[in-house]
Amino acid sequence: MSDHILRVEGLKTVFKTFSGDINAVDDVAFSLARNETLGIVGESGCGKSVTARSIMKLVEFENGRIDAGSVEYMPTPDELIDLTALDHKSAEIRAIRGGQISMIFQEPMASFNPVFPIGKQMAEVLVHHLGLSKLEARDRAIEMLNRVKIPNAAQRFDEYPHEFSGGMRQRAMIAMAISCNPKLLIADEPTTALDVTVEAQILELLNELEAEHSMTTIMITHDMAVIAEMTDNVMVMYAGRIAEYSSASALFANPLHPYTQALLKSIPRIGSKEELYSIEGSVPSLLDLPKGCYFAPRCPFAMEHCHTQAPPTFEPEPGHRVRCWLYGEPGDEVRAAPLTASEEVAGT
Ligand code: SF4
Repeated sequence: MSDHILRVEGLKTVFKTFSGDINAVDDVAFSLARNETLGIVGESGCGKSVTARSIMKLVEFENGRIDAGSVEYMPTPDELIDLTALDHKSAEIRAIRGGQISMIFQEPMASFNPVFPIGKQMAEVLVHHLGLSKLEARDRAIEMLNRVKIPNAAQRFDEYPHEFSGGMRQRAMIAMAISCNPKLLIADEPTTALDVTVEAQILELLNELEAEHSMTTIMITHDMAVIAEMTDNVMVMYAGRIAEYSSASALFANPLHPYTQALLKSIPRIGSKEELYSIEGSVPSLLDLPKGCYFAPRCPFAMEHCHTQAPPTFEPEPGHRVRCWLYGEPGDEVRAAPLTASEEVAGT
C-alpha cells in the first residue's frame, strides 16, 4: 500500500548529440504524495522539463534515453507500474500518457496538429481515454473550453490552431490536458504566454481541479511567486541535479543553497528602488560541466574543495535537503543524507 503516486529514484537521462552524450538529468530522486503539488524551479537548461518528459516517457522520441534509475507510478495504493520498464510506444504507456498522467507543454503550437480543428483534437483524446461517444466528447470539450475562459467555446470548437491567439492556444491546451481528469498533471510553465489576469484565473482553475479530483500536480516554473502560491514542496534544480528540496514554507523561510538564495533575491519587488539582483554568469554547458560543484563558478561562497569535489546531499534540518558543502565537509558521511525518494520528506 502506498500513499504516494510517484516515486523517482536515481534518474539519469542522457541525450545523444553531435558533440557527444549529455546528462540532462542526473541522480534525481523524489516522491510525490497523492494530492500534493510539487514545484520544480531553476533557470532554463536546469533539467526541469527533461525530468517531466522522462516521467512521461517522451525523451525517447527526442534522441534521449533513461540511462539509470526508475520511475514508479502508483495509480492506486495497491498498484505499481514501473514506467521506465515500458516501451515508449507501448499500448500501456499510451493508455497512461494523456489520460492518467497528463502534461501541459510550454509551447502550445507544438501540442496541436495545425491541420485539425482544436475541438476535434480534444474530442479524440476523450474518446480514446474515457471511451466517450463523439457527441459526449464534443460536449465535454466545449465544457472544458468554457472552464478555461475561451469565449464562444461552442463556435471555437471547430476552429484551427492558427485561428486562436497564443494565449487562447495555451488555454485550449490546458483544457485538453485536464479534460480526462488526470491523476497526475505535469504543468510545464503553464502560464508563460498569458497576461496576469488570465494567469491568475488559470492558477485558480488548477487549484479548483486539484481539490475537485484529488489531482496531484508537478508545477514547473521559473516564477517563485507561482511556487509560493501553488506548491506544497519545492525542488530546485541546477545543471540537471537537485540543488535543494524542501517544503515550500521552509524554502522561503530559510533557503539553504546559494543558488536558491540568489533565485529568491532576483524576484522583483513592487516599490523597491534597489537595482534588480541578477545571478552572474550562466548555467554551464552540459557538454563542459565544471569539476566539483556545478554552481561553483557563480557561487559567492565557493571554497577551494568546491572546485574539485562534487558535494553530496546533506539534510541539515528534517525534510530539508541540500547539495552544498556549506552544510557538511568532505568525509563527513554521517551527515550526508542518502539521495533517495524519502517518503517522509515528500508529502509532509
Ligand atoms: Fe557554493 Fe560550494 Fe555550496 Fe557549490 S558546494 S553551492 S560552490 S558553497
